[in-house]
Amino acid sequence: MSARPLFLGSEIYRRSSYGAKHPLAIPRVSTTIDLCRAMGWLPDAQYRDSPMATPAQLARFHDPAYIDALQRAEADGQVDAATAERHAIGRFGNPLFPEIFRRPATGAGASLLAARLLLDGADTVYSPAGGTHHGRRDRASGFCYLNDPVLGILALLDGGLERVLYVDLDAHHGDGVEAAFAGDARVLTVSVHEDGRWPFTGAVADRAGGSARNLPVPPGFNDCELAWVVEHALLPLGRGFMPQALVIQCGADALADDPLSRLELSNGALWSAVTALLPLAPRRLVLGGGGYNPWSVARCWAGVWAGLNGIDPAIPATPAAEAVLRALTWSRAAGRNPPAHWLTALADPPRCGPVRDAVRRVAAAALEPASYERMLMAATSNVSGRT
Ligand SMILES: [Zn+2]
Repeated sequence: MSARPLFLGSEIYRRSSYGAKHPLAIPRVSTTIDLCRAMGWLPDAQYRDSPMATPAQLARFHDPAYIDALQRAEADGQVDAATAERHAIGRFGNPLFPEIFRRPATGAGASLLAARLLLDGADTVYSPAGGTHHGRRDRASGFCYLNDPVLGILALLDGGLERVLYVDLDAHHGDGVEAAFAGDARVLTVSVHEDGRWPFTGAVADRAGGSARNLPVPPGFNDCELAWVVEHALLPLGRGFMPQALVIQCGADALADDPLSRLELSNGALWSAVTALLPLAPRRLVLGGGGYNPWSVARCWAGVWAGLNGIDPAIPATPAAEAVLRALTWSRAAGRNPPAHWLTALADPPRCGPVRDAVRRVAAAALEPASYERMLMAATSNVSGRT
């Protein structure tokens, strides 16, 4: 059993961008790696370079025609209209960019390597490049081309595990992962996400044939509300499922400083959630996800790594870490004059608030038995009432 968590990264993310006008024009994984090293948290012994997944490995989930289309798009730098339409390449926020195959295949390769490491005795693996939870079998969706959480979970199942818990803390519903395991009793997918936001799925009543629980939370979702959801829904659900492995999607777009959601968490709330969830299973894969403010995403994900190592990230940035943060730029207005704590500390100020009824309701509803189970219980009690 490896005592220390492993960090899977790659230099491919440093050079690659979805294009200047895209929300993913910003560096994220490279800054996270730089920050962790600058804080003294990432010795070489805990770092592994991610391999690129092969087309054959990707075909465990993805349509071979789609994999081929991504490879051809990268080689040619263009796609024909029919291919673009069929696979949503260069459509709906999924741009054609120079590493359109290699970059997502490296993220997928990390989740596959993580699964192998966990099956071989590692207890915690971190891949901040992972968490591309919207990717579909045969098309890109929501900036995600390949679905690395699905591939990682399939690899764990193929390795002999029978119960894998997936917890998605991204601001957006983890629709691609939920759909991939709909009706599969071996996987429980639990998603906490902003109500009424794209992709507009993940209602409380959506159980995906019993394999999903959804917690759509209102705008303004605060630190105390996430702590409530963890304690009153995620932990009881997780304990009841008795997972042999836990996969956490830790998107940073539910943070207050993120431009793409209206949730208002501090990074400390996500760090606490991850720390609280880890004891649910002996094998843990922690992934990244969304996150569209270069300062908040890198500080959040560096702090997640610190937490996995038992280090309190709520300390001042070292001079080297501050230099990493001061070198960042962002084309949005907020990037012109970043607040001091984006540059000098990893931790955000806490953002606690009242736990609203809407949050209590979704937490309670997530624990309720599915409607068919209620019908079954009602029928059983009627029968016993007559005898
Ligand atoms: Zn997201």
